[in-house]
Amino acid sequence: MITGKNYIGNRLSGNGSKTYKTFNPVLNAENENEFVEASIEEINEAVFLATDAYIAYNQKSGAEKALFLNAIADGILALDAILIQTYCSESGLPEGRAKGERGRTIGQLRSFAALLEEGSWVDAIIDTGTPDRSPAPKPDLRKMLVPLGPVVVFGASNFPFAFSTAGGDTAAALAAGCPVIVKSHPMHAGTGELVASVVIAAAEATGMPNGVFSNLNSSGIEVGEHLVKHSDVKAVGFTGSIKGGRALFDLAAKREEPIPVFAEMGSINPVIMLPEALENRAEALANIYAGSITVGSGQFCTNPGLLLGIKSAALSSFIENLSEEIVKIEPSCMLHPNIIEAYKKNKQSAIEQSGLLVAADYGSEVNVNYAKQVVVTVEGKTFLANKSLHQEVFGPFSMVVQCEDAMELQQIISNLEGQLTGTIISDDDEIAKYPKVIAALQNRVGRIIFNGVPTGVEVCPAMQHGGPYPASTDSRFTAVGTQSIKRWVRPFSFQDWPDDLLPNELRRENPQGIKRFVNGKITDTTA
Ligand code: NAP
Repeated sequence: MITGKNYIGNRLSGNGSKTYKTFNPVLNAENENEFVEASIEEINEAVFLATDAYIAYNQKSGAEKALFLNAIADGILALDAILIQTYCSESGLPEGRAKGERGRTIGQLRSFAALLEEGSWVDAIIDTGTPDRSPAPKPDLRKMLVPLGPVVVFGASNFPFAFSTAGGDTAAALAAGCPVIVKSHPMHAGTGELVASVVIAAAEATGMPNGVFSNLNSSGIEVGEHLVKHSDVKAVGFTGSIKGGRALFDLAAKREEPIPVFAEMGSINPVIMLPEALENRAEALANIYAGSITVGSGQFCTNPGLLLGIKSAALSSFIENLSEEIVKIEPSCMLHPNIIEAYKKNKQSAIEQSGLLVAADYGSEVNVNYAKQVVVTVEGKTFLANKSLHQEVFGPFSMVVQCEDAMELQQIISNLEGQLTGTIISDDDEIAKYPKVIAALQNRVGRIIFNGVPTGVEVCPAMQHGGPYPASTDSRFTAVGTQSIKRWVRPFSFQDWPDDLLPNELRRENPQGIKRFVNGKITDTTA
């Protein structure tokens, strides 16, 4: 079923001269299929078709687009074993994870479909006119959110389903009314092609225009660069490294017409362990955190890479317990030799920094491409003085910072770069004693967690997955949950526009019965 070709709209095409294969990290061997990188002509054609499809796609109602999204979800489920096998062979991730991520991906598509069926997401605001107002008539103004245009989505290495071909960014952009061109991640090009075939079949079955979706292969940065520079592309979604996200952000800003790049990048997700909680629960917390640091080989953007506490006997016991617990966990395979090489290099350069002590290092031999987990400790002042210790080590690595007192803890938090999450581990009333620490943390993160772990991102409308830079390039938006649709739209007003030419959402009769903000009040009636 895998052809190795690109989907240029509904057509399979492989005119390029550069080919590559994906890699099975568990077997430490290349997979069989060969993929053809998209040529410049194919990239341009995909963008041309997307631009053309944009008009026709937006004449489709929310209910019609919802059918399209639900058909993609059905198609992904129907592929079943072949899709799960391909995912596992291209990522080294186990079958259970593949099925869980598939469930999440399908759930995302269906939640956007439900959002479209209901319809109020367009944030309709109506201020009716007063033609006889003196000294000047008041115009009739009607505002709603409209799609930006063709969007490029970069597949993420660490989420072959949920943040790749038909993942969160794609589902949100298609729901918003934007045609999508996916720059497939080279590590899981076969998984990408299978999912793309489903998206194309769903588009054809539900009458969506050719070009509403394309899937381009690439094994280097050129395809992505060409797409971001293309004048007909209107926005970009990205999940990956700070280096990659920042390069694309800068490229987009240098265009004659700059466009937004919504990049979700690195985060070390600080966890604050308050003293009384450590005093009472050091062992249990060590157990929970050993699991959170190593889950998925630490390849999650919400991995707890930084644990902070105030020096005490309880903190020392916690470090001891964590060190004992973490080495009991069997190491697991990382996504790709490149990822494990980056892990080894970044881990080593962290360990070599002065003042760092290795508290736990999985000593035994492991299979090739499997990651050994590590916990290091450092004094608060050393951490404060050395910014390189603040960088993400993508993998099962965590650093415990031992602070002198609450003041130093607060100072360290205030000096951190922007983060996706921050966590407070506290006894019931203890948190109330640290208002400045909590305020400092809130100022640096997009989501704050009480007595939990940062790993595990619930997909729901109230989720915020995005934080101050460099966690993401625009902290006003989320990459997870239905609110992520807001990245792909812009507000648009109609003034004194004839009712029969208005979009349904703004017509006087409110035919869909959506909730609108009319003359200062929320209502679902006429206006
Ligand atoms: P990446 O290097 O950021 O690449 C992600 C995608 O962006 C790839 O498709 C890559 O294309 C493309 N890309 C990167 N730099 C580019 C540039 N300058 N111009 C155009 N396109 C560019 O991430 P990755 O391959 O997924 O993993 C590498 C490292 O990223 C990991 O070791 C980890 O440190 C980090 N990472 C972090 C997170 C997180 O959530 N925090 C998630 C995933 C990865 P090509 O592959 O075709 O070159």
